[in-house]
Amino acid sequence: MDVLSGLDEQMPTRLAEAIRSMPLVDHHVHGCFTLPIARAGFEEAINEGSPDPIPSFMTQFDSQLGFAIRRWCAPLLGLAEHADADAYWAARSALPPAELNRLFLPRAGVGHWIIDTGFSASAISTPLAMSDDSGAGSSEILRLELLAESVAAGAASAAAFASDFREALAQALPTIVGFKTIAAYRCGFDIDWSVPTDWQVEQAVARWNAQADTALRLDDPVIISFIVHAAVGCRLPIQFHVGLGDRDMDLHRSNPMLLLGLLRQPQVQGSPIMLLHCYPYHRESGYLAQAFNNVYFDVGLSLNYVGARSADIVAESLELAPFAKQLYSSDAFGLPELHLLGAVLWRRSMAQVLGRWVHQGDWAESDAIRVAELTASGNARRVYDL
Ligand SMILES: [Zn+2]
Repeated sequence: MDVLSGLDEQMPTRLAEAIRSMPLVDHHVHGCFTLPIARAGFEEAINEGSPDPIPSFMTQFDSQLGFAIRRWCAPLLGLAEHADADAYWAARSALPPAELNRLFLPRAGVGHWIIDTGFSASAISTPLAMSDDSGAGSSEILRLELLAESVAAGAASAAAFASDFREALAQALPTIVGFKTIAAYRCGFDIDWSVPTDWQVEQAVARWNAQADTALRLDDPVIISFIVHAAVGCRLPIQFHVGLGDRDMDLHRSNPMLLLGLLRQPQVQGSPIMLLHCYPYHRESGYLAQAFNNVYFDVGLSLNYVGARSADIVAESLELAPFAKQLYSSDAFGLPELHLLGAVLWRRSMAQVLGRWVHQGDWAESDAIRVAELTASGNARRVYDL
């Protein structure tokens, strides 16, 4: 499979060869399904926004992502490029999940996965299995809200929560390379980001305990601000879900400009803040990456979903942000097609965008190769200290 096939024949050859082969660090990704899924489940897994079944009048294959799967994944199943959705499904469903994972994952050319294990962990493969299936290394990211929920469930009292949480964070440190917050899903970014006192946290935890019926679902802005600031104290990178996500998130409240009140606090500037996926706010993220030395971002997930349009998103991501502040991610979850496609579409996009600038004489080819390598892996290796 030549991931650059069909692109401009005037593509600078050294750049093209470098982009084809450079190993990636996928700094925000999840495991693969370990059990077979039905076609309905597959189609739901290629729709990021809706939790509903796909309506009978359409197939989710009729989308940029569906077309990209038929273009790039069908040949790996022995089918022609652009094989139709039914043929694709017939070939795919004939293989067990383990075989699909070993077919697609290595072809992404990822050298290291940084895995968020905090979502549907029982349904997807472990970091160890991801490494086995791909031949790549792996590291883990800890979800702050998940940890807070388990600490709250075991805390002796509301007063014990703050110190219990700090202790749980300290215990987790040796096994992780960073944290993730899904504040965007739970309360939005338009909250008071000042550091709450332990007394304020105790009050909030008491309210939370009183409201909770069965499961403790953390959405209290005081507690979320507390756990983010507690993580800041550990000096590891903190990933923020930004932009594109399920519809149970208020997308407009995940605009990263709403994080200014947090980012301006001097103690926060000592920890790398990683803005994930960002679409449609990737230009705001680029601005923040220029405005704050500790802010980084990626356009993962969106590249898969915009398919043939991904070069335009990549071009926009290369506008304001310094090149030392951009990372690669797929944000793939469940389907190994997504782990592969993230890499394929990123390589094609970088080749198209940087190749054009080199060809026009705006950029030197050696600079283009260097910037591609920084985004592919160099920045992630530095920030996560891999
Ligand atoms: Zn994500």
